[in-house]
Parts: sequence; C-alpha cells; structure tokens
Amino acid sequence: MEQLELLWEYQQADMAVDRLENEIKRSPTRQKLVKCRDYLLEQQAAFKRIEGDTTVMADRLDALKDAVALSRDQYNSLVAKAESGVDSHEHAEAYLAEAKRVLGNLNAYIQETKRIRKDNTDRERLQHDIKVRYAKYKAEFEKLKAAYEVEYNEKNGQLEELKKAARAKTAGITKEMLDRYQNIKLHSVPPLARLNGSQCGGCNMSLPSAVTRSIKAGELIECETCGRLLLPGNP
Ligand SMILES: [Zn+2]
Repeated sequence: MEQLELLWEYQQADMAVDRLENEIKRSPTRQKLVKCRDYLLEQQAAFKRIEGDTTVMADRLDALKDAVALSRDQYNSLVAKAESGVDSHEHAEAYLAEAKRVLGNLNAYIQETKRIRKDNTDRERLQHDIKVRYAKYKAEFEKLKAAYEVEYNEKNGQLEELKKAARAKTAGITKEMLDRYQNIKLHSVPPLARLNGSQCGGCNMSLPSAVTRSIKAGELIECETCGRLLLPGNP
C-alpha cells in the first residue's frame, strides 16, 4: 500500500485515540471532581485570609490595650494633680480640658476594641461555617475521586489498547510522512482529507482541476486553504 493510504489508515486509529482522550477529559465525573477541588481550594484560601485578618487584629488589640492603659494612667495622674490642689482657675481649666481629651481618646480606644472583638466573633463564625462546608465538600470530593479512579482505570485500559493499535498502524510509514502528519495536526485535525469531487474533504474549498488531477496521480499536495494533506476520493 502506498504511503498516503497507509497514513490514512493510521489516521483512523490516531483519531480513535484522540476521541477517547477527549472523552476522558470531558467525563462528567472528572468535571465535577475538578469543580469540587477548585471549591475546596477557594475555601482554604478564604480561611487563610480570615486567619490573616485575625492576626493583624490581634496585634491591633495589643496596641489598643497599651493605649488604654496609658490613657488611664494619664487620666488618673490628672485627677491626682487636680485633687492635690489647683492654684488657679486657669490651671483648673487646663487640667479639665486635658482630662477631657484623654477621656475622649480612652473612649475611642475602647470603642475600637469592642468593634474588633465583634469582628473577631464574626470571623470565628465565618471560619466555623467554612470548616463545616469544607468537610461536606471534602467528603463529596473523596467520593468523586474514587468514582473517577474506577472510571479512569477502565478508560485508560481502553486508551492503551487504542494507542497500541495506532502504533501498529505506523508500520511501513516513513518517518518523514509521520512527521508531516504531526505537523499538520498542529493546525488541522484530522490532518488528512480525501477529495470530495473537486473539493477538499476537510474544509470544502473547491480545488482547481489541475490540482485534483495531481492528487489523483498520487502527488503529495496540501490544501491551500486548510493545509491538510489530500488524498483521492474514496477508493
Ligand atoms: Zn482544505
């Protein structure tokens, strides 16, 4: 059998391999598995983000604790000074103004502390929800994974058989022709097309009669439009 016809036979086997490979990739179980995995990764990332926020807020709480202690000391010392006797009205006013300012700060610090504590509680609840969701989806993931493994092993056995058959079909084909086939396959699948009357069977473009004559005479000609290697119509 001539090279092109051998290559045509090989193409049938090669396309069967590709079809099964695509089928494996498109398997609904696999798609669900991928979706489930992505969801789990998202949940992990969300959990980490919250953890990061909590760490930042823990530092802020420490700083606030110090600020509150400092403000209390300042306030107490102002009160002590005022109690130890104020020598003038102006001084009394100044102490009062200062005490008010310190008290204002103290209040702000306490409010912020409360807010952060509430946020922390919210974050804890969120983390708890994430943990519950994660466990649920993790169980689902394991189930899907087991199902996919069974499916994959079965399909993979078939795939190996098809690949073996395709390899066997390369017998007698020159390396040059096989390389040419693979190169065309990079842009046009399948890489070979038969003439359909005067049209390329791959892209349906009409070919000049001189070209179809050359193809029928066994010349190696690629379609000008799609680049497929052309064979005469069905033998
Ligand atoms: Zn074409």
